[in-house]
Amino acid sequence: MKADPAVQRRLLELADVDAELARVEHRRATLPELTAVAEAEQAVQARRDAQVAADTSLGDLDREVKRQEKEVDAVRAREDRDRGLLAGGTVSAKQMTDLEHELATLQRRQNTLEDDLLELMERREAVELDSKHAGVELAKAEEELADASRRRDQVMADLETTQARRDAERVTLVPEFPEALLRLYERVRANKGIGAALLRARRCGACRIELDRSAISRISGTAADEVVTCEECGAIMVRTPESGL
Ligand SMILES: [Zn+2]
Repeated sequence: MKADPAVQRRLLELADVDAELARVEHRRATLPELTAVAEAEQAVQARRDAQVAADTSLGDLDREVKRQEKEVDAVRAREDRDRGLLAGGTVSAKQMTDLEHELATLQRRQNTLEDDLLELMERREAVELDSKHAGVELAKAEEELADASRRRDQVMADLETTQARRDAERVTLVPEFPEALLRLYERVRANKGIGAALLRARRCGACRIELDRSAISRISGTAADEVVTCEECGAIMVRTPESGL
């Protein structure tokens, strides 16, 4: 294949553009900012779970407290009724003894219930603190997630800008090459990642392998407008005075 040496040298610009586009692609897939966002999302989820757990316990305890308060009220009402009967003086001696006995039992029951209630309230207070703490932690985690997302978006936007600029350069460059040369370049690039490189100091710029004597003499004897490729990697080797021929 033949191509004007100047056109061959322009291939190096296209290779530079493609190399940067590949770097952008690679960066985008391996950004530490992506890992940071994923980790922040996990932290938010864990904090949210903790908050839900604390709020659920709080709800359970609230119901328990209400139930216990109702029971205390019921015992009190019963005591009031008994005291009323005793004060009314209309009951028999036997009934009076029974009522006094019941009042003593009710009093003990009330004491137990009130102790339980106190303990419940203390537990509720502790869980309420947990819930508040979980809320603060969740807000902190959400803020960190927002920061991480902002940083990721910024880096993505920068990559986007670089890519757009390089894409535009590519669109301008591509029509400068004969179709067959471009096809060869694209085929090698698709297979090996680099389509064309400078032959510098007898070394292929794509695979970095140094050419042996016979390869050098073969290339030296080739006309400047002949397109030569690397026997190792297939890349188009662009010759310049730096090539060491
Ligand atoms: Zn090579």
